[in-house]
Parts: sequence; structure tokens; C-alpha cells
Amino acid sequence: MTGPTIEGKFRIELDFDLCQGHGVCAGDAPEIFTVLENRLGYAKVRLINPDPPPELHSGLLNAVKYCPNRVIRIVKVDDS
Ligand code: SF4
Repeated sequence: MTGPTIEGKFRIELDFDLCQGHGVCAGDAPEIFTVLENRLGYAKVRLINPDPPPELHSGLLNAVKYCPNRVIRIVKVDDS
């Protein structure tokens, strides 16, 4: 599979307060995200693969782009 990849090291950050459990992310990148109920009964995103390989970057970028609440951020990590 081809598609855009993310150069260099990065980490995935999620804002659980803003997540409304739509599950768009899990649709775009099911190997990276899932949606589960938290202990208060709210559906929230869960990161199941914090270090996805390049072949999953395209789905990750789509999840970032299409999350309705802009919950997902990719933060570059200085690996020098
Ligand atoms: S698409 Fe965004 S708001 Fe919906 S479950 Fe995923 S992170 Fe949460």
C-alpha cells in the first residue's frame, strides 16, 4: 500500500476531554485506534498502537484530518 508517510520520530497525542467517540479514527486506522467505553460510560478513543509502522501512516493522517473534534495530534520528537 502506498500513501504519505511521516518522517522521523513522532508520538500520537489524544485529547480525551474533547473526544466524543464518533469512531471516525477507528474507521480510518483500525490498527491504531479503537473506541471503548470509559468507566463513566462514555465512548472514548483508545490508542492501541502508539508506534505504527510507515504502511499505517496514511490511515493515521486521515484520522487526524477527519476526526470531527480535532482530538488527535502528531507531535514530532527530536531524535538527534
Ligand atoms: S474520531 Fe476523534 S472524536 Fe471520534 S473517537 Fe476518534 S478521536 Fe474521538
